[in-house]
Amino acid sequence: MSFEGNRNFLEIENIVIIGSGPAGYTAAIYAARANLSPLLITGFKSGGIAGGQLMTTTYVENFPGFPDGVLGPELMDLMKAQAYRWGTKFLEEDVDLIDLKNRPFSIRANQSSIKANALVVATGASANRLSLSNESKFWSKGISACAICDGATPQFNNEELAVVGGGDSACEEAVYLTKYGSHVHLVVRASQLRASAAMVDRVKANKMITIHWNTKVVDVKGDNWLESLIVRDVLTNEVNVLNARGLFYAIGHTPNTAFMQGQLDCDSKGYLLTKDGRPETSVEGVFAAGDVVDSEWRQGITAAGSGCKAALAAERWLAQKHEINIVPRKELEPLKVEKNELIKATTKDQFKKDAIWQKGNYSLRRLYHESKKPLLVIYTSHNCGPCHVLKPQIRRVLEELEGKAQAVEIDIDEDKEIAIQAGVNGTPFIQLFKLKELKNQWKGVKQRSDFKNAIEKLLDKEI
Ligand code: NDP
Repeated sequence: MSFEGNRNFLEIENIVIIGSGPAGYTAAIYAARANLSPLLITGFKSGGIAGGQLMTTTYVENFPGFPDGVLGPELMDLMKAQAYRWGTKFLEEDVDLIDLKNRPFSIRANQSSIKANALVVATGASANRLSLSNESKFWSKGISACAICDGATPQFNNEELAVVGGGDSACEEAVYLTKYGSHVHLVVRASQLRASAAMVDRVKANKMITIHWNTKVVDVKGDNWLESLIVRDVLTNEVNVLNARGLFYAIGHTPNTAFMQGQLDCDSKGYLLTKDGRPETSVEGVFAAGDVVDSEWRQGITAAGSGCKAALAAERWLAQKHEINIVPRKELEPLKVEKNELIKATTKDQFKKDAIWQKGNYSLRRLYHESKKPLLVIYTSHNCGPCHVLKPQIRRVLEELEGKAQAVEIDIDEDKEIAIQAGVNGTPFIQLFKLKELKNQWKGVKQRSDFKNAIEKLLDKEI
């Protein structure tokens, strides 16, 4: 699915939505269907990943309308497609400054300055860290904030792993990691789990999971990769060592409100304050939705509902203020969105030496040995949300370069040996080769320009 082409920004936007989780996308769907031509600033790096927390989860089983569950990243792709179909404009940048003191409001993102009459803040919350003394040493070398993204990493295969936390995320991640590790330790600081009953039952029934009650992780040890956790029993103060090659954090979130620099009223934890049960914030014309305002329910469906309220309230407010600028749609019935097909590994018969994007070890072998063009190898895993975000970005770079560079996607679950050889320690992981020589590598989602500049540098050298 491509979200390009709809970039007719207004001099003063009717409504800017900051944040791309269920709250932001739902607000966008409603505002777009009201012909307000909303601009949604998706966020890029700050506050986690575009698409929000459901991008780092597997099956969402409690979002109505999906009786068999739906993958979090897939659900977010569908919401984004729906917002796009009705005319939402997207800006894939981080907001770093807003001015709510003057009207219209000013919003500065990485490379853009925007004016807006109304604002919906739906920036969600970011995953917390433990801040252990050796945390930075083992970050991405055993410690991860996303089991779903990094669980398939070869270093975790058949090893003892640990998850810290006692909520739904921790339980879901513990169960997920039993696919990869030999055993999973769930380290819970309290004497009970706070996850939903269905999740608790699943964890307790799983023989591959041991729950360590009343236990805190106090530090981590290892050489080049995490080897053990130092844990303390909070009741007896007894300190123990727990062998684990992976430690996954699932210890809650902090609302993403720092960039607002005190311009909106917040509670002591940083959650935005709104009028009871309503989306209006302390500044007229600014509305809030989703986890940034909700320290209690924090569900995809409640976020979506609050996004709907915020958009409707913003529309009414704009109409009352006579600041509404209706932008009629060109088509009465917007075009249906194309579905994302699951791309299978390219076979020998399907292989094309000049294709810009292929998948699997056969294409990699052929292109690595035969292609004279810059070659990106993109290591992904099935349910990795950041991979969903990154792949279309890289595709766009390759399209812009008109075939002067190529990419091969390697699913690290399907091609484990290749991932081990490449030293993949989480997904997405990207390597850039030219004539078999490794020129660059990146871990995680990066700006499109990072890839484009690195490729163009190699192309320049050819001239
Ligand atoms: P929660 O806030 O629900 O849970 C955080 C957990 O981390 C708690 O058990 C807390 O312990 C523990 N914790 C916090 N700080 C520390 C620390 N410093 N050291 C050790 N442990 C710590 O967060 P979740 O991300 O699990 O869930 C957020 C929301 O998302 C919830 O509403 C949840 O229901 C929802 N969710 C739903 C899913 C689904 O339906 N598939 C999947 C994942 C999340 P304590 O209990 O002692 O405070």
